[in-house]
Amino acid sequence: MLPSGSDSQQRSLENPDKQTMRVDSTKRNDKLIEVPRKKLNMRLYTESEQKFQDYINSKIVTISIIALVGAYAILIFIIVALEELLDETEFINVSSILSWIELGILIIFILEIFVGLYAWGIKKYYKDKWLILDTLIILLSLFFVIFELADQKTSNVIKVIQAVFRFLRIFLLIRKAQTFRRLATISTISTPAEKIVRFLAELKEVLEDENMKLDINYCIDKIGNNQLYQMGKLDEDNAEAMAWLNQSQQGKTEVKRVLTNEQQLQQQQQQQQKKVIANFQKLNIPKRLLDILFKQHDDLYIDPFECDKLCGGEGLVNLMLFFFENYNLFDVFLIKPKVVRGYFEEVMKGYLDNPYHNKVHAQDVAQTCNFLLSKCKFIEIGQLDEQDIACVLIAGAIHDYGHPGLTNAFLINSRNELALTYNDQSVLEMFHPSQCFKIAWGNQKVNIFENLQFQKYRRIRESIILMVLSTDMAHHASELAVTNSRIAAPDFEPNGKDKQRLMDLIVHSSDVSNPTKSFEIYKQWTEKVLTEFWLQGDKERDLGLPISYLCNRYTTNMAEAQVGFIDYVVKPTFACVLGFLPAYEPFFQNLDKNKAKWQELIEYYKQQLASIQPK
Ligand SMILES: [Zn+2]
Repeated sequence: MLPSGSDSQQRSLENPDKQTMRVDSTKRNDKLIEVPRKKLNMRLYTESEQKFQDYINSKIVTISIIALVGAYAILIFIIVALEELLDETEFINVSSILSWIELGILIIFILEIFVGLYAWGIKKYYKDKWLILDTLIILLSLFFVIFELADQKTSNVIKVIQAVFRFLRIFLLIRKAQTFRRLATISTISTPAEKIVRFLAELKEVLEDENMKLDINYCIDKIGNNQLYQMGKLDEDNAEAMAWLNQSQQGKTEVKRVLTNEQQLQQQQQQQQKKVIANFQKLNIPKRLLDILFKQHDDLYIDPFECDKLCGGEGLVNLMLFFFENYNLFDVFLIKPKVVRGYFEEVMKGYLDNPYHNKVHAQDVAQTCNFLLSKCKFIEIGQLDEQDIACVLIAGAIHDYGHPGLTNAFLINSRNELALTYNDQSVLEMFHPSQCFKIAWGNQKVNIFENLQFQKYRRIRESIILMVLSTDMAHHASELAVTNSRIAAPDFEPNGKDKQRLMDLIVHSSDVSNPTKSFEIYKQWTEKVLTEFWLQGDKERDLGLPISYLCNRYTTNMAEAQVGFIDYVVKPTFACVLGFLPAYEPFFQNLDKNKAKWQELIEYYKQQLASIQPK
């Protein structure tokens, strides 16, 4: 039975090795408090003490004690009844058997007390003062039972004392019966989150600092309400970060061949080199594009505009054909190149001629995904097989299919049909993959999924959809927080249970990767994306809708906006990527270099803004 009435005081500390606790709170943003355990005067329990605590609190032990209490109640009742019904000699004969049974039960109760004393320590065990009385009653009952068994001819005085003790044992039974109440709570204390909450509540009781108590209340509230990864309300200084994050809001795998060690990789590279250019040429990829891709297909600084131009505006199709040949994906999909060409031609046609969200952006994202897979070695670190590689590259290529050049917020606010179809939830990110799977299943001639075995198809489909959904900025902060905590976790498995999460991040980070590129390319993308935003802003103005963040052409400073974009979105994203892809390191500094360039341009864009007047 538990040593005290208050549940919050009964749990042990989960990790006695950690000698300090960190309590972080948004209430006092930058303050990280270190509280030495000793100062808190908290008892640290050893592993075996914790085991005993868990043992006593376990369902089986609790039920056994309840059963024993029931048996003891019946026994006391029988003893009292027989004493009345039988004459003295008969009673003495029977009572010795009953006394032996009572002795057995009392010994078990004594053992329970000893185990409790060992598990919690005297001070904590007897925090509930009634337990002292319980122990006294049990010890005295034990004394009288032994006395009875040793010498049954007892004096009248002893008999009176015995009778009083029988009464006191009934009191003990009532106390023990309270264990029933605890049984109801046992099944609810199983998850780590609940253990943490109980521990925090225990910590709060021993703290004197009122601010720290408030911090702990905050922690309990967030854990209890499952809000650990939700963005809280930020103060005014962070309003811009919030605006970035809300900008678009408002409103297992069959491993065929795993690339593991350096040797295998080298072998593969040699094999690739041996591949006759003719193999690629058979795919009708323009020679000038092939020359670029052979030399630098895994290059971050490949110029997407030039590649598209070299292919007569079919950069996306030709890049995907190159990847299919390069990674043997025709074999994975058991499909002929003409089907793949046909499929990506359809995908390419579905991209509207938006300033930013167009086929060149799709080609650029697929290309950046390939850079992270290949040059930054995610293929090795995540032990990606060809199927995984295909999923990442296809997700990159289709991730903005049919994009109307308007944000989710606009579609929701203007009650657009897409928002109605997808119930305002990740509207575009639901729409893009949905359409791309329809393209395949709507036309056999371009169905790249047709020859896949059913289970394999389901896994590929699930993986691609998850990756495209991950490009919704509405989930950016919460997903990044979870991924960061997974990377820091001792059981982080980039090639196992965390692989899909990292694949999601590869596609999402590629989607926001412009600031990591050369400034020349980056600036072109920036002008395009703001042109698109401003067209939306014009529409919002016409419709009398609130003008979205960055969408007002009369107030948005392009350079300032990019500084914010780098600080609040791109840098945290690639810092997370760096956490599992150390090969990305040399490219990470581009962010600061490009930010410095924008900072120099802030004044220029201020003057530009001043020169234009709203109509
Ligand atoms: Zn995109």
